[in-house]
Amino acid sequence: MKLLEDTIREKGIVKEGNVLKVDSFLNHQMDIKLFNEMGKEFKRLFADKEITKILTIEASGIGIACVAAQYFDVPVVFAKKAQSINIDGDVYSTSITSFTHKREYQVIVSKKYLLPEDKVLIIDDFLANGCALNGLTELVEDAGASVEGIGIAIEKGFQDGGRIIRDKGYDLHSLAIVESMDAATGEIKFSQEA
Ligand code: 5GP
Repeated sequence: MKLLEDTIREKGIVKEGNVLKVDSFLNHQMDIKLFNEMGKEFKRLFADKEITKILTIEASGIGIACVAAQYFDVPVVFAKKAQSINIDGDVYSTSITSFTHKREYQVIVSKKYLLPEDKVLIIDDFLANGCALNGLTELVEDAGASVEGIGIAIEKGFQDGGRIIRDKGYDLHSLAIVESMDAATGEIKFSQEA
């Protein structure tokens, strides 16, 4: 998606350790006009799918998911980060290793908000090693619901997540795929969607 790529080129900051900072428009301050265009694009990409719910993960996925949800006219559920001691039988839970924080944490979704008949579109801000998506797809499958599609804002194509998720057969679309990025020069290159 050209608008997203242009914004990443203009405002994204490449950090050491393969981290792309997009705090000025995506995951701290949020550019809602851009989110709106992203929501429209997700709707176009998944136009043939019947979706009953959007699932994301706190915190950075929530804004994007909420704007996109207006195009699908469905509720948004976000997986909550939880202390494992607080987890009871009323929730689906899984553990996720954070790429940016390098630690493992539990996420939960109440059984009330993911039902076997749900047709779920998963939305998140980044795809790196695929750990967050593996956790989210597991929650959907635990509920007996179906993953109809996965929409990602920024995929880092030089990490393994995209291949792992596509190899599992999921219908994954990323609005921008970073092919390479250089912390020394700040240069970011994009590839066409797979
Ligand atoms: P994964 O689980 O695919 O390794 O990483 C996905 C999660 O890590 C995303 O939900 C996102 O919050 C975070 N993340 C991964 N890579 C980046 C990055 O380069 N920049 C930022 N800002 N977040 C990232």
